[in-house]
Amino acid sequence: MMNLVSTACRAAEENGARKVKRLTVDVGEMTGILPKYLFHYFPEASKGTLCEGAELVVNEIEILVTCASCGQDYHPDISNDRCCPFCKGTAGKIKSGRELMVSDIEVS
Ligand SMILES: [Zn+2]
Repeated sequence: MMNLVSTACRAAEENGARKVKRLTVDVGEMTGILPKYLFHYFPEASKGTLCEGAELVVNEIEILVTCASCGQDYHPDISNDRCCPFCKGTAGKIKSGRELMVSDIEVS
């Protein structure tokens, strides 16, 4: 959270902004970070920074795996036994879900 706040503040400073109005962060499912945790710590982490008082928006990014056999993207979960639902392949490459980053800021 501190990192996210300092990233946002740095970006705001580079833009010559006096204040961050809204901060949007992408949080992948794989990070295991719950949005409520971010909301809980944001006021404290942003205190005294350009982000203080900003609105926090959390984008949850679900895990997507690209199947190594057929190339389709799928969301691994209990319903498909974490295998590719198209070809039942078990090998794949994680495409999204690891994100933890500032995706957008609105400044004033
Ligand atoms: Zn497949």
